[in-house]
Amino acid sequence: MITMKFGGTSVGSAERIRQVCHLVKNEIPRHPIVVVSAHNSPTLRMTDTLVATAQAARNGIPDTNRVAAAQRGICQDLGVDSAEVGIETLLERFDQLIKGIAMIGELTPRTMDMVMSFGERMSARVVNDVLRREFSVNSEYRSAVSLGLRTDRNFGAARPDPRSYPKVARAISSLNCEVLVTTGFIGATEDGQVTTLGRGGSDYSGTIFGAIVGAEEVQIWTDVSGVMTTDPRIVPEAKSIPELTFMEASELAWYGAKVLHPATMLPAIDADIPVRVKNTADPDHPGTVIRRHLLSESPAIAKSLAVMNGIQLVNITTGRMFGVHGFMARIFEIFSRNLVEIHMIATSEVTVSITTPKGAHVEKAADEIKEFADVTVERGLSLVSVVGEKMKGTPGVAARATTALARAGVNIRMISQGATEINIAMLVQDTDASRAVVELHREFFA
Ligand code: ADP
Ligand code: ASP
Ligand code: MG
Repeated sequence: MITMKFGGTSVGSAERIRQVCHLVKNEIPRHPIVVVSAHNSPTLRMTDTLVATAQAARNGIPDTNRVAAAQRGICQDLGVDSAEVGIETLLERFDQLIKGIAMIGELTPRTMDMVMSFGERMSARVVNDVLRREFSVNSEYRSAVSLGLRTDRNFGAARPDPRSYPKVARAISSLNCEVLVTTGFIGATEDGQVTTLGRGGSDYSGTIFGAIVGAEEVQIWTDVSGVMTTDPRIVPEAKSIPELTFMEASELAWYGAKVLHPATMLPAIDADIPVRVKNTADPDHPGTVIRRHLLSESPAIAKSLAVMNGIQLVNITTGRMFGVHGFMARIFEIFSRNLVEIHMIATSEVTVSITTPKGAHVEKAADEIKEFADVTVERGLSLVSVVGEKMKGTPGVAARATTALARAGVNIRMISQGATEINIAMLVQDTDASRAVVELHREFFA
């Protein structure tokens, strides 16, 4: 078996969806499970539109016309009967939900997950219908929720519960079809509340389903030809990387390479399943294979550059850190209890500096820490990272990175290299990030 995950742009238009169906049909001998994202094209960013619709409703304006018109438009382009495949029922439910939000004037993370889930639940039905009608594939649609995929209750960034996997595997094997089409991005709590895995979470769904069925391969189909030396939107000359190790891909994903959701590699590593990243618009391009060990020796010291914008820097200062037992433990406990993720940390005798991603709710943690230390929070920073397993034991990589940034006139606020030495992360101003990446790319990949 294999899983084939198709990102939003891969299902963003009628033409792309037909291309997807063609690719799926070719893989029938390997029994594909197809994991689908919500439609995404320059004119139809479904998940963003769902979010905007819910926010407007909370502010008293319930209007689902944009969502309905966009979804019906794509159905029409493909000859999908939106009533017959259940999309009209979903649109009605969505309309009720939005009216409910407007009435109450409140939008909780739990409700937001319910809102966002409609995108995947509609697009997967479209793909399934086109596979059946136009491509004569004996496919079936089941949502991840109805297959029994359970998660924790961390709405907006839920984590799957592996205890639910055997049940999902049984549900899948009891289906009598050539292809299963399912939803990326979503799951449900034990008591049936819909959750999402975080924005971009369909990649994670791809590897979760791969692990559940013990797939021989997980394919991530997107709008670029694999994982590249950096985001081609920042550096158009970025090149596709033929092979990455699990460790390299994990670091890249964790440090912001948007092509993979940060948690994507976890299930693949646990189940030791290779992940192939490929371009739906250029399927003959080999893309990138991610596996435990490289098959061919690569001379590259640095493999890729990742960048993560909107980072927050929390500086904790106290005159009393020296000799005070448990100071760090106390800080970490507060961050952990407030669900604030820590990316990077640096200490001196009197300060602890910690970076956390955009959106992390640091205020509550900062208030608690203020009871025993001085705290400042700075926003608008970026983490720029150089990743590659060969950096391990190679002297001078950090020097090359910092010299490149000096050349670009970029000030480094903080720098870290883990003891595994496969990543050097540098904290810079958001406004300097692209310039930093361009110069680093020239240094390591020109
Ligand atoms: P999908 O909808 O298929 O999930 P995404 O937009 O989430 O696609 O991810 C693909 C995008 O990730 C690319 O278009 C590219 O701009 C961006 N990206 C960032 N870093 C990288 C990288 N190292 N390699 C390839 N793409 C990257
Ligand atoms: N549709 C979701 C999003 O836009 C999940 C995904 O595309 O992976 O974030
Ligand atoms: Mg994505």
